[in-house]
Amino acid sequence: MTMAIETVGVVGAGQMGNGIAHVFAQAGFEVLMTDISAEALEKALALIGRNLDRQIAKGTLTEEAKAEAMGRISTTQTLTDLGPCDLIIEAATERETVKTAIFEELVPHLAKHTILTSNTSSISITRLASRTDRPEKFMGFHFMNPVPVMQLVELIRGIATDEETFRACLEVVERLGKTSATSEDFPAFIVNRILMPMINEAVYALFEGVGTVEAIDTSLKLGANHPMGPLELADFIGLDTCLAIMNVLHDGLADTKYRPCPLLTKYVEAGWYGRKTGRGFYDYRGETPVPTR
Ligand code: NAD
Repeated sequence: MTMAIETVGVVGAGQMGNGIAHVFAQAGFEVLMTDISAEALEKALALIGRNLDRQIAKGTLTEEAKAEAMGRISTTQTLTDLGPCDLIIEAATERETVKTAIFEELVPHLAKHTILTSNTSSISITRLASRTDRPEKFMGFHFMNPVPVMQLVELIRGIATDEETFRACLEVVERLGKTSATSEDFPAFIVNRILMPMINEAVYALFEGVGTVEAIDTSLKLGANHPMGPLELADFIGLDTCLAIMNVLHDGLADTKYRPCPLLTKYVEAGWYGRKTGRGFYDYRGETPVPTR
């Protein structure tokens, strides 16, 4: 018998946190979402409402189901309120110090049975787990962006994760109607181990003048049948997140083939993080995106 999960705590109400809250509430779980920013929480609730409306417009959801889902989401600015949840998914900023501080603050308030997980794109699950009181009940629970649309969830076991915790998370993925793939705990797991070096290489191609933003994106869309070009996709993911993942690959695998492109670093230094800040490889402030190089 695996443990039944009913209440889910989500830490961080950014791009990923709001999508995670959305899919759990829609699947019937009670969700408690927290963020250090009151504005992020407000924005997340508004965005979930709009995204559910889109499902209604498509005929895949009823008004009643939307109201029920919204009714299952509560918010708090007090992290420790999440303590009693059956499952906690940490989806705060991709910085190890941020994540470990969250876990250290949460641990004294957790219920004995609480499963603790991180949506990290790249940081070692084993190392994050070691900073908690429950490495056996700690996992990587890695959603893809946008969460309501993307089918995959990567499940990552740390070295100490027990079978019961893994099974409970597998069941949760099934209840969400999504598909899981299991990855061993190595830097950036499976999706980003392959995807990020490709995005980084696209930035190098731009940096070295091999092609323009438009030429690079068109090439991969029409030449490799990718639904989005790599630079467009980088803007969508967030250039700060892309850089953080490249640094994790570079440090974790100690191989120069993973060195982040200096142009990627420059965009991040400028605060041009992509869609979420209005500018990245494209400028999103007008009607249609315009390449910035
Ligand atoms: P984001 O910048 O959109 O959101 C992060 C949120 O965390 C912000 O609202 C911020 O206020 C909040 N936050 C920061 N410190 C906090 C704290 N101490 N307590 C509570 N909230 C805090 O980032 P995102 O794109 O949503 O990424 C979140 C996580 O999901 C990262 O670990 C990232 O690697 C991972 N992830 C991202 C993607 C993607 O495509 N963007 C995909 C999969 C996984």
